Amino acid sequence: MLYQCRECMSEYPLNTLEYKCKCGGHFNLKFNKSGYKPDLYKDVSNLSLWDYECVLPFNKEESRDITMMEGLTPLIPLEEDLYAKAEYYMPTLSFKDRGGVMLVLLAKKIGLSEIAIDSSGNAATSVTAYSTRAGVRCHVFVPEKTSTNKLKQIQAHGGIVHTVWGNREDTSLAVKEFITLNNIFYASHIYNPVFYHGTKTYFYEVFEQLGFRFPDIFIIPIGNGTLIFGAELAFLELKEAGYIQKYPKIIGVQAKNCAPLISEDPVSIKETIAEGIAIPNPPRKKEILEIVNSTGGYIIGVDEDEILSAKDGLAKKGLYVEDTSAVNYCAYLKIKENLTPSESVVIPLCGSGLKSNVKHF
Ligand SMILES: *Cc1c(COP(=O)(O)O)cnc(C)c1O
Repeated sequence: MLYQCRECMSEYPLNTLEYKCKCGGHFNLKFNKSGYKPDLYKDVSNLSLWDYECVLPFNKEESRDITMMEGLTPLIPLEEDLYAKAEYYMPTLSFKDRGGVMLVLLAKKIGLSEIAIDSSGNAATSVTAYSTRAGVRCHVFVPEKTSTNKLKQIQAHGGIVHTVWGNREDTSLAVKEFITLNNIFYASHIYNPVFYHGTKTYFYEVFEQLGFRFPDIFIIPIGNGTLIFGAELAFLELKEAGYIQKYPKIIGVQAKNCAPLISEDPVSIKETIAEGIAIPNPPRKKEILEIVNSTGGYIIGVDEDEILSAKDGLAKKGLYVEDTSAVNYCAYLKIKENLTPSESVVIPLCGSGLKSNVKHF
């Protein structure tokens, strides 16, 4: 491999300290590789979650004006037997696009021109982005503490933001009052199962990316459980179709400061930097616990300083994620020494680090 001047054709070794040719010309890189042969049978026109159209509630054709070719995110080998699925490689920089596109397709299909959603940030960003593409007005209810970066993104997409003075639970009460008063469709990622048929593609993709098998363990962050409900669908469908015999284990993660699935004590709820999973009272708590238990898994809690140090650890590996996503790597570090040799783990990197700028308290 050599550099070659584009003007005088002089060649330089790779370790030259020159950054351009002595004659002033710029370098080309010269190396001996050629032989691109198009594989006429490889269909890359469909590289998105719409690959799984046959198990989705809508067709790729119906999604044509709305899809941003979401899905099919990379599975990055991080450590031996640990893979990170980089969900922030997504149109709105979080995994919520898997469900967001489905919810908006639903709104379109039933002929709505206006919808409302409440979220701590990422679900609303996604639903707003797709709504705008679909020509649907989207009211967004967010708690006051939402990262300003997420708010800017929602506003940029054209979302009508209603800031609620209070926590995530107050926000959910506010949207429910608003939809009842104004007769507006509640495009909820928490209640509407259409969303979960989007998030289930996360598991279909991992299944294929690992060579048509699941890892032993999926670590999954839990706020309202949207990824867990996707797991429930994918596991069931793949088992019924005979592709898996048993369920991989789900290890759920919550921030200890807001861990209603671990502790029953409501006074123990405090603020957490993991804003995306700061849900003091998840409406589907019982179902989430049932799903986790059905896989032989359990839920662990992580401390605030552990989250920050895991975030830093990931950044030092080149992956910059939002605080809420660092909880997953943090959970891995905590269970690591109890793993049996060759037990494989997949963690999701749900949101981009550029999203979180909530004050660290
Ligand atoms: C939504 C979200 C989660 C998971 O929260 P659920 O409410 O359980 O769906 C995790 N991380 C990030 C970054 C999120 O946006």
